Amino acid sequence: MGWQQHAACRDTVPDLFFPTSDDFTAPEAARQLLVAGAVCGRCPVRRECLTYAVESGQAHGIWAGHTPADLRAIRRQRAAGVPDPVVDADPMCPGCSLLFALPALDGQLCSACAERQEKGA
Ligand code: SF4
Repeated sequence: MGWQQHAACRDTVPDLFFPTSDDFTAPEAARQLLVAGAVCGRCPVRRECLTYAVESGQAHGIWAGHTPADLRAIRRQRAAGVPDPVVDADPMCPGCSLLFALPALDGQLCSACAERQEKGA
């Protein structure tokens, strides 16, 4: 999967995202969720990660700052015909809101905005 090479968690300790317990009301797991969630918060492939976790049925760990219970809730919602605002969103340029025709990384600028940024405009 290409998006994984852009993951903010790539150089972190994998155990951080896989607490020994999926009971996130327990202090240690709750602390891990907080720390892992901060890493996810600055991750450019959060949407891709969440989509993968939801669609592949991940049942353990923290994915895009979401717990397994969060993922189950998104799956139930989608099964009921309610699109998820993140998983089902079309990727768009944050500079001009142009929708990408091809999969794009979150936060990626379209070519016109990238060119404008390079020129310092
Ligand atoms: S969103 Fe979080 S878990 Fe997913 S790839 Fe990024 S840092 Fe890793």
